Amino acid sequence: MPEKLAIGIDFGGTKILAGVVNLETGRLVGTGKKKTRYPHEQDDLIKRIIAVIDEALAESGTDIKQISGIGIGAAGMVNRQKGIILNAVNLGLTELPLVEPLSSYYGLPCKLGNDVEVATLGELHFGAGRNCDHFICIFVGTGIGSGIVINSKLYHGASGTAGEVGHMVLVPYGRTCGCGGMGCLETYASRTAIAKYIVQEIARGADSQVREKIDPNKGILRSKSIQHAIETKDELVVRAVTDAARFMGIGLANIVNMLNPKKIILGGGLVEAVDYYFQTAQHEAKTKSLKIASKKLEIVKAELGDYAGIVGASLLVKND
Ligand SMILES: [Zn+2]
Repeated sequence: MPEKLAIGIDFGGTKILAGVVNLETGRLVGTGKKKTRYPHEQDDLIKRIIAVIDEALAESGTDIKQISGIGIGAAGMVNRQKGIILNAVNLGLTELPLVEPLSSYYGLPCKLGNDVEVATLGELHFGAGRNCDHFICIFVGTGIGSGIVINSKLYHGASGTAGEVGHMVLVPYGRTCGCGGMGCLETYASRTAIAKYIVQEIARGADSQVREKIDPNKGILRSKSIQHAIETKDELVVRAVTDAARFMGIGLANIVNMLNPKKIILGGGLVEAVDYYFQTAQHEAKTKSLKIASKKLEIVKAELGDYAGIVGASLLVKND
């Protein structure tokens, strides 16, 4: 039996990754990579994606005739039916058609999903969600997003926006959020929230070893720097991460009470790099949710690492 192969594309703000993936095993047969590059001309962008796909095909020694379809996971809001990216703020793009140009160029079925959705699909088939019919995947990084799996299927909601846990309101009239709301979970529990708090406290005179590593204008602090500061017990960073993780845990407790999942799978750069954040959020979630709902609940880390986006995207071809 020949391998059942598909192409998965992880289309992000900084890089485009493509891979030829074995749909039965999740094994990556070959990969390609290019920077997304600014400014984005639509045609130029499609050409770049095609170049990345061709690179992955060449590396894997696969002919396009062996490929059953192309799946794309993109950051931002997408219209799955029309196959367009609606509004990817961090890409500076609106209304970008991806499915039609790629599908007609290769003569293959092509599907589009968002990055969180495809990462959840990856965990469902080949990661921490294997053999689990009810779970939530939550990814923490610059923002917070989630994928909801009910009866082994992704739940999209009435207009396709289900899973926006980052905008669960935890503090009435709290911190201002990029969504236009106030007091959203991601303004307290994301890596961006941690960095902003640290910048603010340093401006008020607090000291921290990450002072040199943080960009005060953009408020960017890498997860690795946060982990290093935790290891050396940097007081300000420990406080910032503790607060953020507690908010995350309370958000998780709300989800547990609402959906009663078997598992919560936590992923993303911050969770991978900073175990203290994971442990604190886990403890908070277990102690703040209804006992009966959390009794058998497992809170675990995502298993698919850097290539989760590619493998998950390829699965869009399989899942309709
Ligand atoms: Zn919000």
